[in-house]
Amino acid sequence: MQNIYDITLEELENYFINNNDKKFKASQVFDWVYKKRINNFDDMRNVSKVTINKLKDDFYFKKLEIIAKKEDKDVAKYLFKLDDNEKVEAVLMYHDYGNSICISTQVGCNMGCKFCESGRLKKVRNLEVYEMVLQILMVEEDIGKRITHVVLMGIGEPFDNYDNVIRFIDIINSGKGIAIGSRHITLSTCGIVPKIKEFTNYDKQVNLAISLHAPNNEIRDSIMNINKVYKIEDIISAIKDYIVHTNRRVTFEYIMLKGVNDTIECALELSKLLKGLNCYVNLIPYNETSHIEYKKSDSDAIMEFYDVLKKNNICVTIRREFGSKVNAACGQLRSHYEEV
Ligand code: SAH
Repeated sequence: MQNIYDITLEELENYFINNNDKKFKASQVFDWVYKKRINNFDDMRNVSKVTINKLKDDFYFKKLEIIAKKEDKDVAKYLFKLDDNEKVEAVLMYHDYGNSICISTQVGCNMGCKFCESGRLKKVRNLEVYEMVLQILMVEEDIGKRITHVVLMGIGEPFDNYDNVIRFIDIINSGKGIAIGSRHITLSTCGIVPKIKEFTNYDKQVNLAISLHAPNNEIRDSIMNINKVYKIEDIISAIKDYIVHTNRRVTFEYIMLKGVNDTIECALELSKLLKGLNCYVNLIPYNETSHIEYKKSDSDAIMEFYDVLKKNNICVTIRREFGSKVNAACGQLRSHYEEV
């Protein structure tokens, strides 16, 4: 038995073909599930009883449980309980251009970034495809509005759950599924180089963001364990290749940590590192968390850093601070919940 939210359109087409049935029925099922949003097979009015009974033998409908929600004016954070009682979170943000959701891809995370709450929680398991799909569907149901943008920046490392993440993107991007345009989907990775290479050949125009957070190996080694395996030069070389192949612009995320990576020298070094690359840098004011001693850079330091990059012709933005009131930084809501 498989959760109905766990299968891609192509897989469902093959399912029907293998059952000596018609391929187009997969589109009909997707239409009921993702467009009409029914919750059981009997509601599929244009599907024959025989097919419905067969579907009931092989698939089931089951959603996730929302066990906590914290809201501020333009942001809401959801905590979900999974079938095995594990918990993950998603963050909804209202923008002038639409509604975006930041979803989790794993229960916990093994990447061990020193500044990140999720790293403290350690990976328990990968999320199944349906558990990622349902984060979107449940939030849409809760707010009664459509999500227009999806970022894979919640708990977990998407490239450590590569196959499920790709199948998840196939479902949400399918015109017959949730139909979120590929340019409205952004995957963020801490820099697992072999997977960046694999992703280079993925045929969808999904945005790629790299959590760089440092201009050199010395600083990056001190804050991100993954840098002991894949060095900055390996990442940059994989990204150069990615840009040549896909012709797409890459985002580098850079958390501003007071006294760690926020000096003028760091800004100069970063400018040199990224010179000539089709990229932009997103400076992220660090969202402080009670368990971790890193502090957010002063706003003056962030502005100076920004100016240096600008002067050196690097495209740069400062991320709007959304989530500090709702513990929106990666892993924070789950972690707080576990303490109460
Ligand atoms: N593992 C992936 C995606 C999840 S983390 C990655 O590393 O990119 C999503 C982003 O949030 C990353 O850039 C991460 O470094 C950042 N992040 C983690 N904790 C944060 C915090 N307390 N404040 C601001 N950003 C944080």
